[in-house]
Parts: sequence; structure tokens; C-alpha cells
Amino acid sequence: MKLMVQTGEEIVPLAQCFWIRISPDGCVCSSSHGDTAATAEAAHKDFIPKARDRARELRAGWRIRLVTKAQWKEQAEPCFMGTCEHRQQAVA
Ligand SMILES: [Zn+2]
Repeated sequence: MKLMVQTGEEIVPLAQCFWIRISPDGCVCSSSHGDTAATAEAAHKDFIPKARDRARELRAGWRIRLVTKAQWKEQAEPCFMGTCEHRQQAVA
């Protein structure tokens, strides 16, 4: 079975997308391949196995998003490289 995802204007196979886990201040803290989960809930479960921890994160404003490779490079790569603005704000 091939899942397809619509992100914005393009339709992309799930296998070519990435799930990202975003902190309340907008920093991407986790990422996995799109085909590891079919829904944001399932992807969150892979990142955070405990339901109680997931619920707490969602209340605190954490988000799970599906992004294309291009969006990943734009949004997630600086966070993983430690060069994003979010982290610098957190330190300052
Ligand atoms: Zn960041």
C-alpha cells in the first residue's frame, strides 16, 4: 500500500516525507521518516511512547507535523545543526 500526502500544493508519497516534533517555541526536536507512521498521533507515539507524556506535550503546545524533504531542510535542519534562531533565543 502506498500512502500519499498532500502538503500545501504538492502531493508527495508518505515515504518521501518526514514527521517532525516541534517544541512550543518552534524548535524541531525529533524527526522520523514519513513511512514510519500514517498519522500524526502514531508518529508522536513513536517519538514519545508514554500516553501521559504525549498528552502533557500537546497541552504544552508541542506539535507533530508532516513535511516534505524541502520543508524539512528549511525548518528542521537548522534545529538539528544547532544553528536555528529558536535555540539562540532560549539561551539568551
Ligand atoms: Zn530550532
